[in-house]
Amino acid sequence: MAEQEFSRRKFLASTGLIMMGASLKLKGLDIPEARHEKIIDIHQHVHYVGRTDEQLIAHQQAMGITKTILLPAGSPANTASTLYGEGNGLQAEAWGNESCYELAQKYPKELSFGANEVPDLPNAIQEIEKYLKKGGVVIGESKFAVECDSPEMQKIYELAQEYDVPIIMHWEYKRYNYGFERFHQMLEKFPKVNFIGHSMLWWAGISKSDTDQTIRYPKTKVIPGGYTDRLLSDYPNMYGDLSAGSGLNALTRDEDHAREFLERHQDKLVFGSDCTDIFGTSPKCIGANTIAEIRKLSPGKKVRRKLLSGNAEKLFKI
Ligand SMILES: [Zn+2]
Ligand SMILES: [Zn+2]
Repeated sequence: MAEQEFSRRKFLASTGLIMMGASLKLKGLDIPEARHEKIIDIHQHVHYVGRTDEQLIAHQQAMGITKTILLPAGSPANTASTLYGEGNGLQAEAWGNESCYELAQKYPKELSFGANEVPDLPNAIQEIEKYLKKGGVVIGESKFAVECDSPEMQKIYELAQEYDVPIIMHWEYKRYNYGFERFHQMLEKFPKVNFIGHSMLWWAGISKSDTDQTIRYPKTKVIPGGYTDRLLSDYPNMYGDLSAGSGLNALTRDEDHAREFLERHQDKLVFGSDCTDIFGTSPKCIGANTIAEIRKLSPGKKVRRKLLSGNAEKLFKI
């Protein structure tokens, strides 16, 4: 531990991050007690677009994260569900189960890990199960070109049920996870599995608007009653992951709506960053910007704490 602390300090000093950390503490703290606030980041990746382990750890510290969940990619594969290789590494050079598991062993207090595999590989279930047995707290990130109700995915939902872990799904129109409009059927078929929605199609879907699924980051005012909003309202096993540009956009596109949305779904939303930068601070870090936005729009301390850590603690049992 001391050694890790030493190398961390050495690393921070060498990159000037101690200085950045200091200014971070003075900056952005309109909420005085926020300085010591617990924050769980449910969505990060190892070697994300080439970032080193040291850069990842420093990024999480600069953001002020207490605990991070590392989401592995599946094995590199040339199958339909990886778009014949294009989707390998979650299409972002993210590394797999063993890397996430190993890094989490090095920093057991700061890191947890998930379990993942390409669903149309013959040993997918065994591979996911192997890492759930080692202590994986979630299945995912499930970002594959498959029907959401395909037999392969249903086997993975059954495994989630057996191990009582949630599953994170990346929804991207005509790209990853198909059949969004039918997804409520899976929520009904697997009522004991907690599903966590993530990415462009998921977050665009908070608005009823024109349902043009090709617009990935809609900037227009939210029209209440979108499919995503209904899933969150109608199904106790449906959750939302606020990470990435899509999650942040869902908050910034219409802040009046976002205030009400955070209050209404205060038990269903969890903070995640999913950003690839090496800074961990505004303005370049999506995660830091999302934390600031949650603090700005949350109706009070109680809701803010649920969104930043409380809901994640319950959902992932961490
Ligand atoms: Zn991700
Ligand atoms: Zn970031």
